[in-house]
Amino acid sequence: MRALVATTLLLALVWAGRPISAAAASGKVPTFALFGREHVRLADWAKANSFEIRWLKKDESLQLSNGSLKLVFAIDSRQAELNGVNIWLSHSVALYNGSPCISTLDVQTTIAPVLSPPKNWSGGKIKKIVIDPGHGGTDPGFQDGTRQEKKYTLLLAQELCSQLKQAGFDASLTRNNDMNVDRALRPELAKRRGADLFISLHWNSAGSSRNEVKGVETYCLTPAGASSTNAGGDVINAGTKLGNRYNEKNLFLAYQIHKALLSGLGVEDRGVRRARFEILRTAEMPAVLIEGGFMSNRTESKHIYDPAYRKQMARAILNGITAYKKQVELLKEKSTPVTKTRS
Ligand SMILES: [Zn+2]
Repeated sequence: MRALVATTLLLALVWAGRPISAAAASGKVPTFALFGREHVRLADWAKANSFEIRWLKKDESLQLSNGSLKLVFAIDSRQAELNGVNIWLSHSVALYNGSPCISTLDVQTTIAPVLSPPKNWSGGKIKKIVIDPGHGGTDPGFQDGTRQEKKYTLLLAQELCSQLKQAGFDASLTRNNDMNVDRALRPELAKRRGADLFISLHWNSAGSSRNEVKGVETYCLTPAGASSTNAGGDVINAGTKLGNRYNEKNLFLAYQIHKALLSGLGVEDRGVRRARFEILRTAEMPAVLIEGGFMSNRTESKHIYDPAYRKQMARAILNGITAYKKQVELLKEKSTPVTKTRS
C-alpha cells in the first residue's frame, strides 16, 4: 500500500510535464489523507531529499536545509520562507501526532518548482515579453488625492519595456497611453503577439491602517483545488483554468521576480501570493501580477512617484526575468559545424 501511494505521488510529480530531479522528488515519501487532502510528513520528505530538519521553536516553526537551500515553515500557517523569500502555501502546515505535515499539492506546486526549476524541454527561448500596465482610460485604479494608479503603472511599464529592449528582449505593452483596455483582452493581446511571458503591473492600497501597510506582493495563479492567498482559506472558483497549464513556471517566475525586487529595492516582503485574477486565469503563457508598493502608504507612495525609484524597480524586474530565463532555457549543446548546402 505504501509502495502504491509513493508510486502515485511520483507519477503525479512526473505527470506535471517534466522529470523531477532527485532533490525535489518525493517518490519515497509515504502520503496520507489529512483534512481530506493528501499530505506528507516533512520529516519523511526531508529524509528522502537529503535535507536536515530541526525545530526553530518546538511545535511552532521548523527549518529544512541542505547546505545551499533553506526552507522555513510555521505550524498552522500558510506562510513559508524558501531561500529567504516569503511564499504563501495553498494550505497550512499542520502538526499531526507531533509531526509537521505539508499537503502534496504544496510539495508539487510550490516547493518543487523552486528546488527543481521547470525547463523549456522543447528548447524554446524566452524572448517576447508583453507588459501590462494595470487600469487605464475610465478606470483610474487607486486614487491618492489627484494621483491615479493608472498613470504610475504606465510609467513603470514604459521604463521596464525600454530596459527589456536594451537587454535584448522583444518587449511590448498592452497599452501605451491612457486608454481603456478590456481586462480579458490583455492576456489575449499577449497570446496574439506570441509572448513567452506576461507581466502585469499594479500599485497597491490598504483600506485601513494605511500608513502601516507597505511592501511588495507578486501574484501567480492559484493551483486548481487550492485556496487563494487572500481568500482566508475559502476555496472559490477552484476548477482548472487555462493558466494552470503553467503552474510550475508561474510560481518560478513569481519567485525569481519577487526575489529580485526584495534584493534590488530592500522593500518589505509581503510574499509570493496566489490569486485567480482574470488576467492570470486566461493567460496562455507563464504570467505574474506585481503589486509594486502601496500608494496608500505615505513613505512608499513618495517612492512610487519618483522616476529614479521606478527605474530601480524596473531594473529589479528585469533581473528577475533574466534569472528565470537562465534557469528555464536549456543550455545549447555544442554542435559540430555543418557545411552549408543549398537546396
Ligand atoms: Zn491596480
